[in-house]
Amino acid sequence: MKSRKLLMIPGPVEFTPEVLNAMGEPTTSHIAPDFIDCFGECLEMTREVFLAPSAQPFIVAGTGTFAMDMAASNLIEPGDRALVVNTGYFGDRMGDILGRYGAEVDHLRAPIGDAAGVDDLQEALDAGSYTLVSMTHVDTSTGVLTDVGALAAVAKAAGCLTVVDGVCGTAGAECRTEEWDIDVHLTASQKAVGVPPGLALLTFSPDAMAKFEGRDSPVANYYADIDNWLPIMQAYENRGGAYFGTPPVNLIYALNASLRQILAEGMDARFARHDRLARAFRAGAAAMGLEMVPRDDSLAAPTLTALYYPENIDASLCAGIGAEGVIVAAGLHAEIKEEYFRIGHMGDCNESDILSTLGAVERALAAEGHTCSTRSGVQAAQHALIGD
Ligand code: PMP
Repeated sequence: MKSRKLLMIPGPVEFTPEVLNAMGEPTTSHIAPDFIDCFGECLEMTREVFLAPSAQPFIVAGTGTFAMDMAASNLIEPGDRALVVNTGYFGDRMGDILGRYGAEVDHLRAPIGDAAGVDDLQEALDAGSYTLVSMTHVDTSTGVLTDVGALAAVAKAAGCLTVVDGVCGTAGAECRTEEWDIDVHLTASQKAVGVPPGLALLTFSPDAMAKFEGRDSPVANYYADIDNWLPIMQAYENRGGAYFGTPPVNLIYALNASLRQILAEGMDARFARHDRLARAFRAGAAAMGLEMVPRDDSLAAPTLTALYYPENIDASLCAGIGAEGVIVAAGLHAEIKEEYFRIGHMGDCNESDILSTLGAVERALAAEGHTCSTRSGVQAAQHALIGD
């Protein structure tokens, strides 16, 4: 259908035909034998995709915010101290959620476009006695990639539990949950996991489960309480049916289809593809003279790119790009909201999507009278993709 627009926002993203077909399968009982198998396989594949072989996976109906809520409500007891490594909008949200369950929250903030490094974290940890450190792998409001491997190692060495919000990274940006000492890796379905919105996915390490089991106070969130969900996850993985809240049957079918595709591609190949496409996209943007929000390439996410509008161009550019057939997202970070826009390139994204998007940006800029450096973005991205 020629009038169809290419969806290049940082979630939801475009989904594969196999995933969309699975959504349309006739809905069955949540305790039907094939559904039990399907759910059980999803739990097993989640461990593989998260690279968390010893972790307990949870797959629950809810959005990414619910996944954050589930991590915080189960791990925090009133009076615990939590440190948020904050790279933007979703760090603020995590701080609010941790505070809601009684944590005393501090933020380790970096200027917009930057991220705290290991020395900054070490200094903050030396100054306070925290039980939990959270960080956002890719902050969707800035496009900043946090070095979660390095930071989690420092936090863990200081005796903290580590929580990574992977909503805009998981299954796209390299994340080796177990090897990198991440106690809770949380995400949602609608981004690089490749499934329509509606699923929260988490893995809890043995240390995270131990913290939960040692609680003195009950979990203040009934729906999120692991006591309610652990028996369900264990039952499905042991190929038995169980009920706490009705699972979203068709979303689980779709998740099964997507996790299979992700594992068929292979995690290393998938991380490398996201990295290659993002580099090509950034090469194209730079050739057009567009400046990115992350301070440099080492801080630029493989799953989305945040770009400042050129001089004399405003948010109407997004509508212009839309008119050229590609849907992109406007700014989100309150301090620079009107100054930049965001392009998601994750999940089932390919080379043609990158080139189409850069082409649409070039045409939209030209339509706004900004001819300087346009018409060079697609070419630069092609060079990056071809490797010449
Ligand atoms: N964390 C990050 C990094 C996100 O990008 C998002 C969604 N954009 C969320 C959390 C919240 O997810 P949801 O919108 O599914 O609640």
